[in-house]
Amino acid sequence: MNTEEARTRLSTERARIEELRHAANRLTADAQEATERELSSAEQHPAELASETIGLEIDHSVAQHADLELAELEAAVIRVDIGSYGNCEACGQPISEARLEAIPTARFCIEDQAKHDKNGRRNGR
Ligand SMILES: [Zn+2]
Repeated sequence: MNTEEARTRLSTERARIEELRHAANRLTADAQEATERELSSAEQHPAELASETIGLEIDHSVAQHADLELAELEAAVIRVDIGSYGNCEACGQPISEARLEAIPTARFCIEDQAKHDKNGRRNGR
C-alpha cells in the first residue's frame, strides 16, 4: 500500500470515530441533563432514573472506546511517517491488504495477533 493511500484511509477512519465520539458526548450531556432534572424534580421516578443512568454508562464506554481508537490511529499515522506502517511489529512481515482494510490500525499480522491475544489473556495457565 502506498503512503498516500494509508494516510487517506487513516484520516477517513479518524473522521468517523471523531463523529462517533461527538455523538456520544452529546448523548452523555443530554442524559446528564435529564438525570439532573429528575434529581431536582420533587416527584421522582426511580425506574426512569435507573434506565437513564445505565444509558449514561453506555455512552461513557462508547466515548472511552473512541478515545482508544483515536490513540491507535495516532500511533498508525506515526508508523506511516516513519515508514513502518503495514508491517507486523512482531515478525516484520507485511500485513495483508484485506486485514489493513478491515483494521487500518492493525499492528500485527493475523498469526501474531492471535499469539498476542493469547498471551494477553490471564486465564491462569
Ligand atoms: Zn507477524
